[in-house]
Amino acid sequence: MNEALARAAALLREARHATAFTGAGVSVESGIPPFRGPGGLWSRVDPAFIEIGYFLEHPAESWRRIKGIFYDHFGQAQPNAAHFGLAALEAAGRLRSVITQNIDDLHQQAGSREVIEFHGSSRWLLCLECGRREAVHAGSLAALPPRCGCGGLLKPDFIFFGEGIPEKSLQRSYQEAAQADLFLVIGSSGEVQPACQIPVLARNRGAKLIEINPHPSHFTPIADVFLQGPATKAVSELIKELGLRN
Ligand code: NAD
Repeated sequence: MNEALARAAALLREARHATAFTGAGVSVESGIPPFRGPGGLWSRVDPAFIEIGYFLEHPAESWRRIKGIFYDHFGQAQPNAAHFGLAALEAAGRLRSVITQNIDDLHQQAGSREVIEFHGSSRWLLCLECGRREAVHAGSLAALPPRCGCGGLLKPDFIFFGEGIPEKSLQRSYQEAAQADLFLVIGSSGEVQPACQIPVLARNRGAKLIEINPHPSHFTPIADVFLQGPATKAVSELIKELGLRN
């Protein structure tokens, strides 16, 4: 690990434009389970309730489950040392942005400023009638399904199965993949399309790739450095190696 850590730190020091790409794994140590694999959410819960067609037909039932999982449970989570470490890297000028597949807002809560939410965010509700977005507040989900002032159905502003990636997130991510000379991939299986193409695109254009994950993933064969371990430990060690404070 130490040799790999030293190589990863050297790559970050030399990078002109480093971008992080995070998946569910970065939030596991905050208490949010990943979707796939052993202990994953989909091994216990049928994901049909966040399929867009089902949601539109059964909004009250979908919303009861969405509220229980994504707001009552995940909403209690706090950022961990990996989220704080990425914010520290950005503040030190070592990281340009974080592209995250997560919808949990934990990068922003840790202080990251340039966050591209590839799949949207649970922090916002979107009116399917008038298109207005509103921030979730204490009373937002008092009555289910929640309604906009115009009477329209509100939906969490993250993508459901059957929906496309928001155009702006897609464009900004492609831009990062084109400009970055280093990608730091943390806690992503690399199985979710089209998100998993972003680091591959960057790698094909010549960017170096550092991966942090306790288990090998689809990214491991193309990684220049694989820091095998949980995100909090690996990011904290990397921060220390660079002489920064978390
Ligand atoms: P995934 O569920 O497919 O894979 C999670 C990855 O995290 C695995 O490779 C696993 O080995 C790794 N991992 C587990 N513990 C870790 C740790 N402590 N440190 C670092 N890595 C760890 O996740 P995915 O590739 O992100 O795809 C699932 C999709 O579901 C994502 O696109 C995301 O939108 C969504 N999701 C979001 C959240 C969230 O917002 N926190 C949670 C679950 C799923």
